[in-house]
Amino acid sequence: MTTKMLKFVSVPQKQPEKRTAADRRADFDEIYTDFKPEQATEQASRCSQCGVPFCSVHCPLGNNIPDWLMLTAQGRLEEAYGVSSATNTFPEICGRICPQDRLCEGSCVIEPGFESVTIGAVERFITDTAFENGWVKPVAPLRERTESIGIVGAGPAGLAAADQLRAQGYQVHVYDRYDRVGGLLVYGIPGFKLEKHIVARRHELLAEGGVVFHLGQGIGSGAGELSFAELRGRHNALLIATGVYKSRAIGGPGAGLAGIEKALDYLTASNRRSLGDVLPDEAQALDAAGKNVVVLGGGDTAMDCVRTAIRQGARSVRCLYRRDRANMPGSTREVKNAEEEGVQFEWLAAPEAFLGDTHVTGVRASRMKLGLPDASGRQSVEPLEGSTFTLDADLVIAALGFDPEPLPQLWDEPALAASRWGTLKVDQKSFMTSLPGVFAAGDIVRGASLVVWAIKDGREAAQSIHEWIKADAMARTAEQG
Ligand code: FAD
Ligand code: SF4
Ligand code: SF4
Repeated sequence: MTTKMLKFVSVPQKQPEKRTAADRRADFDEIYTDFKPEQATEQASRCSQCGVPFCSVHCPLGNNIPDWLMLTAQGRLEEAYGVSSATNTFPEICGRICPQDRLCEGSCVIEPGFESVTIGAVERFITDTAFENGWVKPVAPLRERTESIGIVGAGPAGLAAADQLRAQGYQVHVYDRYDRVGGLLVYGIPGFKLEKHIVARRHELLAEGGVVFHLGQGIGSGAGELSFAELRGRHNALLIATGVYKSRAIGGPGAGLAGIEKALDYLTASNRRSLGDVLPDEAQALDAAGKNVVVLGGGDTAMDCVRTAIRQGARSVRCLYRRDRANMPGSTREVKNAEEEGVQFEWLAAPEAFLGDTHVTGVRASRMKLGLPDASGRQSVEPLEGSTFTLDADLVIAALGFDPEPLPQLWDEPALAASRWGTLKVDQKSFMTSLPGVFAAGDIVRGASLVVWAIKDGREAAQSIHEWIKADAMARTAEQG
């Protein structure tokens, strides 16, 4: 079947409809509606089928984008799903939350003056359709292998690896200290970007395919935790995919006041509330309803906090970022969404002190100006003299980034080599750490990054584990013979 592609000249770009800002503010549901089949077909047919597709080059997974766009344009959705799922373990998740403007869509070479193909939305449509039609099946290995693999962390890196290893027939055991599967997909990222049932159905599929989950099982030396040494003894190989969870602290006068909270504590409490969990008292207090909220930071976590506060019914929500809009690390699309929903941005502003006796009542801040580029090429920021101003605040949320937890100490394994930032050191090609048979992937290796990179690392680490197990088995056979 042939379909005319290259329709970008006659068909304008159209993203799936967004719910109105008023609607969005009232709940935690996703803000984009689904493409109708004819919209997906039409949007996919805008692709010009480049010989060298820069969209694929700039997708961390190297997705075969032009092929699944062509198949979608032809209405061959089951085949499109086959091609899309061959390189991406969770296409419907990436289609929802990849910062496409910085990755595939940002590299789409459609002629200047026309907007890029809506790659993410089509990718999401293909896999959502596949789920609706029962085309997504649990993994079914061709043969069972006796070797078992332990994976620490049920975030996207651990899950992508679990899927690949199970497909090879390994006995796969995933351990996570949380009670649900998904890592930051469930407890970090809010439902308005990724509804939780999307992650839960992946959990069910993996479990149906034979992956064994040990939830509520931390690895470490705390009460009820399983020691790393014991875990190593249980499995033929291990993958560490524990992410990064140590929040960067804020400093300055008053930084210890009550009401100054860490972004991830705040988002986790909100996600748990949406999931219907009963929260402990200290987490109950993490609610913005009726409060003046100030969020510090300009990344995706800060955007998620401000938009969560709006939905919780905050009296006012302000985001303080020390650089300007053009230099913020968060996705521009999310800033726009936040503004539509009623968030006020204070660009080029940084906190000086937090006011209040025991509980925070305000933030004293000063205006900043961009200076000359520093050694990293990034413009420095300096305060503008005499520019101090004060914002009322009953809740201040610090979203200044995350660092890795010190795993070698926490796991009593000094031979597990870490960088000076605390990320685990791995061989670039094999993902093996300094310990034989112990691999690592995702944020714990890269530092805070993106879901799509975690999936890529998990898939590649799984392939290396498979090769290592095979080589190990051959070496043992040779020794015995
Ligand atoms: P994680 O997702 O962090 O999963 C690690 C898992 O390991 C967790 O389940 C944790 O409980 C478990 N674990 C940790 N230590 C132990 C232990 N000792 N024992 C047992 N289990 C343990 N990326 C995007 O691409 N798009 C976005 O829109 C986006 N938004 C984000 C918003 C927020 C608020 C945050 C914080 C991050 C966001 N990211 C986003 C980044 C993305 O979520 C991460 O890059 C990604 O989840 C990393 O995957 P991972 O598997 O390495 O780790
Ligand atoms: Fe784009 Fe992410 Fe999908 Fe790759 S995985 S095509 S970067 S949305
Ligand atoms: Fe199609 Fe754009 Fe990719 Fe070219 S770069 S193949 S036009 S999506």
